[in-house]
Amino acid sequence: MPTDHRNYVNGEWVDSESGDVFEVRNPANADEVVGRFQDSTPADVEAAVDAAVEAQSDWGGLPGPERGRILRRTSAVLEERKEEATETLVREEGKTRSEAAGEVQRAVDIFAYYAQKARDVGGVVKSPSGQNSGLSTRREPLGTVGLITPWNYPIAIPAWKLAPALATGNTAVLKPASAAPTVAEILFECLDEAGLPDGAANMVTGSGSRVGTPLIEHDAIDGVSFTGSTGVGTQVARTAATDLKRVQCEMGGKNPTVVMPSADVDEAVDVVGTGAFGTTGQSCTAASRAIVHEDVYDEFVDAMVEYAESIEVGPGLEDPDVGPHVSESELESTLEYVDVGQSEGATLETGGAELTEGVYADGYYVEPAVFSDVDPDMRIAQEEIFGPVLSVVRASDFEDALRTANDVEYGLSASIVTQDVTEAEQFLDRIEAGVAKVNEKTTGLELHVPFGGYKDSSTNTYREQGDAGIDFFTATKTVYRNY
Ligand code: NAD
Repeated sequence: MPTDHRNYVNGEWVDSESGDVFEVRNPANADEVVGRFQDSTPADVEAAVDAAVEAQSDWGGLPGPERGRILRRTSAVLEERKEEATETLVREEGKTRSEAAGEVQRAVDIFAYYAQKARDVGGVVKSPSGQNSGLSTRREPLGTVGLITPWNYPIAIPAWKLAPALATGNTAVLKPASAAPTVAEILFECLDEAGLPDGAANMVTGSGSRVGTPLIEHDAIDGVSFTGSTGVGTQVARTAATDLKRVQCEMGGKNPTVVMPSADVDEAVDVVGTGAFGTTGQSCTAASRAIVHEDVYDEFVDAMVEYAESIEVGPGLEDPDVGPHVSESELESTLEYVDVGQSEGATLETGGAELTEGVYADGYYVEPAVFSDVDPDMRIAQEEIFGPVLSVVRASDFEDALRTANDVEYGLSASIVTQDVTEAEQFLDRIEAGVAKVNEKTTGLELHVPFGGYKDSSTNTYREQGDAGIDFFTATKTVYRNY
């Protein structure tokens, strides 16, 4: 039986004033309703923001180590619930059990990390120009922040926004994505059990227009952190900037892996394949383009096809290699891009068909797809697909590969597979991406270093994660003293 889920406002689990709910279904079996969630309204946002504003001076006034203790307990409580959170994540978002377990562990680790960082929020002391004087800076919370998150990492991304926001003394209102809100709710249950004061963090579920927009527009919101598509993020950034709010949006990608002749082709196939097809291609950092030197192009395409055909697709709970798409609309979008690629003249080497028989009958499954003969100008080489579709582009030399890699509007993650140190260093110097890797897949991030994109992948304002999380959620006050 599906359960009814509530908003978390001022330390209470409450119904929306709308009286309406929306359903979330299991993408591996659309007949199964995972839960019903509050279809909230601007009035619910208002109540959550009021509670967060009311709580801010007490929460921000607590010593950092005190706030840190609550975050550490949150991490511990979530770790105890790891198995349950993992299974919930698989049921509502569709990723495999291993992928989901990794994501939940990431959220556990993020809270532990920022629990410690809460002690380090401070400032610097500089030498003043005059005698008998002092010159220093202080880091202060922004105040109350609005956080908006996507469905593809439905617990890790709320964690990597909430934990630094709270560590630095902000209070927050989170709007999780409607496709996968249950694991965000689990995070709030953990915060509640850890003793977070009422109102310090609040969660309101519902649509982007009725919950997200009023949250960003609210006068009492001092900062907005958004992760999602470039289309929505651009609107969010514009709206927030109108009121001069601090804003950070991390958005889409069209991530390349360059493969050079010195690479071991099997290793290159593994790097590209895990980056392209893991999480069903539904990662912002997923490898979407393999840009392959002509000397190894044919060998690479053959091995890539073999790799793609060996992938086991199935329900995430059975822990196959690749799970279903999150929703019917995401599946439709991928199938449409498969058609687009064929009509543009690329060669569909393998995959790309919807899987509909037997265990696949009630889910949103597609065969991992590999296109060859992809021209860099084709839509499948330029637009974010967000599914398990790889475009293989031929390059005549390193300069040609680099030009193709950079010739897109996005700039999130990029990698090169090579044994040539000069090529590797040239790539790191000249690739236009916020994450650059050598001999590694484009996906996979460490939590204690900054993360964010170049170009249309980001507002290019602030980074997330690591110390960058502290930067975004704090304002600097410069203090001059004379005595
Ligand atoms: P989306 O842009 O459709 O939605 C993101 C969030 O914004 C959701 O909570 C949604 O309800 C909300 N929203 C929608 N319209 C809104 C509006 N008008 N005002 C305020 N909020 C609104 O994205 P999605 O489909 O949930 O996620 C997939 C996208 O996220 C992909 O483009 C992917 O690349 C990107 N993504 C980026 C990163 C990153 O860190 N760069 C990480 C994960 C996902």
